[in-house]
Parts: sequence; C-alpha cells; structure tokens
Amino acid sequence: MQSFDFYSPEEQIYRASFAEAGLSVYFKRDDLIHPYISGNKWRKLKHQLLAAEAEGKTALITFGGAWSNHILATAAAAAKFNFQATAIIRGEEVSNPVLSLCKVYGMQLIFVSREDYKDKEALYRRYATESSYFIDEGGYGALGALGCSELIAELTEKYDYIFCAAGTGTTAAGLALGVENSLLTTQIHVIPVLKGGEFIQMEVQKLAPSAKDVTLHVDYHFGGYARTKPALLTFIKDFVADTGILIEPTYTGKLCYAVEDLAQQGYFPAGSRILLIHTGGLTGFIGMHERF
Ligand SMILES: *Cc1c(COP(=O)(O)O)cnc(C)c1O
Repeated sequence: MQSFDFYSPEEQIYRASFAEAGLSVYFKRDDLIHPYISGNKWRKLKHQLLAAEAEGKTALITFGGAWSNHILATAAAAAKFNFQATAIIRGEEVSNPVLSLCKVYGMQLIFVSREDYKDKEALYRRYATESSYFIDEGGYGALGALGCSELIAELTEKYDYIFCAAGTGTTAAGLALGVENSLLTTQIHVIPVLKGGEFIQMEVQKLAPSAKDVTLHVDYHFGGYARTKPALLTFIKDFVADTGILIEPTYTGKLCYAVEDLAQQGYFPAGSRILLIHTGGLTGFIGMHERF
C-alpha cells in the first residue's frame, strides 16, 4: 500500500483582533495534506482503508450529497490506495465540478432518491459484493475518530484550546480522544456547522467513550448546513486576503468567524494559545463561488 505520511505544519495566524485580545492563534494545516483527500477526510479514511485491506476487501462503497468533500476524498483515496470505489449520491442525477473530479478518479456514481437514501444499509446490500467495504456518510465512525486522534501526537507546541468545525462529530471525537490519551489539559471546542448542533456531544460520547466532554458553540451555523449569510462571506473575504490562507463558507469559514467573534467578546484570557484545525474543504468554496 502507498504511504499515509503527509505534511501538516502548525502555522501562526496574525489578525488584529487576536493581537488586541493578547492571543496566539495557530492553524494546523491539514488542508495541505492532499488537494482532494484534504484535512480530516484523510485521517478519517486511514484506518477504514487499512481495515478494508486487512479483510481482503477491494471495493469501497460510500454515501453522500452531490457536493460532498467526503465523496471526493474517497474517490481520490481509492485511486491512490488501489481500491475500486462506488458512491451512492442523494438526489436526482446532476453534474458539478466535484462529481466530475470523482469520475476522473474512477469512481462509479449511483444517484438514488432522497427516500431510498434514508436506508443506507439496504442500499449497501443492493450494490455490495463479497469484496465490498462499507464507509459511512462523511467517513463517520470510531475508526474515523481513531485516525483524527493521531493529530494530537503530531503537535509540536502546547495549546490551551483546540477548535474544530463539526458535521458528524467524528473529528471532534478523535481530538477529544487524542487529548485524553496524551494526558493533556487542552480543552476541545467545537463549532457545529448545522442547526441543532447539540447532538455533537452525544456523538463524541459514542465514538470516544473515554474522552471528556467537548465545549460546543452552537450559534455559529449561519442558518444551517451549507447555508450562509452576507456577514460570513464578508468575513471570509477579509480573512483570506489578510492571512493568505483559504477558508470556505461551509466549515472553516464558520470556525474562524466563531473564534474571532469569541476573541472580540473577551472569551479567552489574555495569553491564551489557540489551535484551529484547518480541515480543508476547497469544494465548499467551489459550490458557492458565485456568492463572492
Ligand atoms: C467533512 C468536513 C468537516 C466535518 O467533519 P466531521 O468529522 O464530520 O465533524 C469539517 N471540515 C471540513 C472542511 C470538512 O470537509
């Protein structure tokens, strides 16, 4: 199998609001891991691909929406690590740049109605063969969290806070697990990008039972998953032009907005060291490019 090694440095971000609040803020550049298997998707897939290989499976079947970062990551990872890949896509057949990339990486796309999509187990049984391996929507699951937990051992500095965006909560659970295993006192803070993000706490408990609770900030969803507001888009333009680090409206934009808003409210004691996880997600930008 190809190597899972990669490069993801910790890089300081200089922003006036952070300096004014006396904070040192860093990005863990998981967006640099791979152009399309970016950020947490690589970490979430790693142990699932190793398990598939150990079980002698040669074909991955996974699930998602038509703009899913996870679907594209699975397509690129399947090509790199020598698996066949099929994605079962929610909703009627469409074409977009993300799905075209999936096809170039050799992924088979199957579009199913929103009704059929609700029963993933049934869909899996319909399309699986003996050599298939199930990967849940968003790379969700305990093996995904295990991969994300490895981030903590890579850190070269100590932090008071680590912040990440959450969709399924797998990444947040992994970070909480990693902190627990390393006996650190770092607090894990999470920005759910969906409405009703309180459920993320339950997912963390389920996926990482030994980990402590994370702190959720549930009011930075900007209307819900993949929804946005002019204030967020304005913030993103300013942040990207100022720092040179690309963030997007679906995940990392909400994360950075939240941390800056909390900093301005005086949430963090002066002198705090904060690490933001850049979970990648260029496709979130492509899907909303007309808004910029
Ligand atoms: C998928 C994704 C997430 C969500 O991660 P979860 O582990 O599902 O919470 C966060 N950020 C980006 C950029 C993503 O693509």
